[in-house]
Amino acid sequence: MQVPFLDLKSQYDSIQAEVTAAMQQVFDSCSFIGGEPLATFERDFAQFCGARYALGLANGTDALHLLLRAMGVGPGDEVITAANSFIASASCIVMAGASPVFVDADATTYTIEPAAIEAAITPRTKAIIPVHLYGQPADMRPIMELAARHDLQVIEDAAQAHGAEYEDQRVGSIGHAASFSFYPGKNLGAYGDGGAITTDDATLVERLKALRDHGRTSKYEHAIVGYNSRLDSLQASVLSVKLKYLDGWNRQRQQVAAWYAEALATSDFVLPSVRPGSTHIYHLYVVRVERREALQKHLAEAGIASGIHYPLPLHLQPAFQELGYKPGDMPNTDAAAGQLLSLPIFPEMTQAQVVYVAEAVRTFEAATVV
Ligand SMILES: *Cc1c(COP(=O)(O)O)cnc(C)c1O
Repeated sequence: MQVPFLDLKSQYDSIQAEVTAAMQQVFDSCSFIGGEPLATFERDFAQFCGARYALGLANGTDALHLLLRAMGVGPGDEVITAANSFIASASCIVMAGASPVFVDADATTYTIEPAAIEAAITPRTKAIIPVHLYGQPADMRPIMELAARHDLQVIEDAAQAHGAEYEDQRVGSIGHAASFSFYPGKNLGAYGDGGAITTDDATLVERLKALRDHGRTSKYEHAIVGYNSRLDSLQASVLSVKLKYLDGWNRQRQQVAAWYAEALATSDFVLPSVRPGSTHIYHLYVVRVERREALQKHLAEAGIASGIHYPLPLHLQPAFQELGYKPGDMPNTDAAAGQLLSLPIFPEMTQAQVVYVAEAVRTFEAATVV
């Protein structure tokens, strides 16, 4: 048996006729930028998130970057984000001209630790970017409370968590604004690059509409220097088809996670932990293991793909070297980085595949008992 890390092909096969019809409509209209497919997707995605507005952008990194710009964050400002995340959660801050300040993760959910955020606030702090990591929301209630106390903007990085809930609120409707990525491997993935922001703030939306489209106020009038960062109509049409299935796909991921929890109950793994009051939509199924490299090799020999998210935390990335962080600065993140392992998970994964992975784990553990 082969178990891929994710299987975009079987998902495509299940919606192929609908996707082809939606894309054909765009071809027939020859309206490739803006227009009806984008407006429809933006309306439906805002509704899905429980936010007043959604705006499509070229990718999730631009969504973060342009939100910071629209909020007036720039040179001299600090923005707090998670040390345990993908590079874009912090590179966006540098793109805006501000300085990233990293904080540690909670030891069991691996999401950003609210108490560590508060400790990192300085007079220069302007915003916080909590990351809904692996598909689980960050602990947003204390984050929104401390942001209100210190008058800070909160941008949810929801690139891994489309549809996840925190205390009955969907991500994308909790912070002052949120960013999403539609990179093909995300829970809601386009057939190319894509991203979006959500917010209830009409002023922010007007600024972002200009920022994503050359600073335009009319066809040939540019009020500000903007960017070219639009979600094109073909991607919007694909995303509208896929959005209808997203809740179902997320439930299937939760079913796969439940199968894993059962099949791995007797293993030495530390399994994913879900914060009470939150839902986890398992963009990734991340366990904690000893002897990770040997296990990965054993799994690969059995035809099972796996990944590491993330082997090198952001505060130790060469790109951020000049910020002066060192190993041990983020104790929970640094301890986890050597042990985290992402097992295959995707909506179409079968129970037989899960059992096969668990069996390979058992043979590994049996062969290496001391
Ligand atoms: C994927 C991702 C992004 C960036 O999205 P792109 O669309 O690839 O630019 C940002 N933050 C996190 C946590 C991500 O996983």
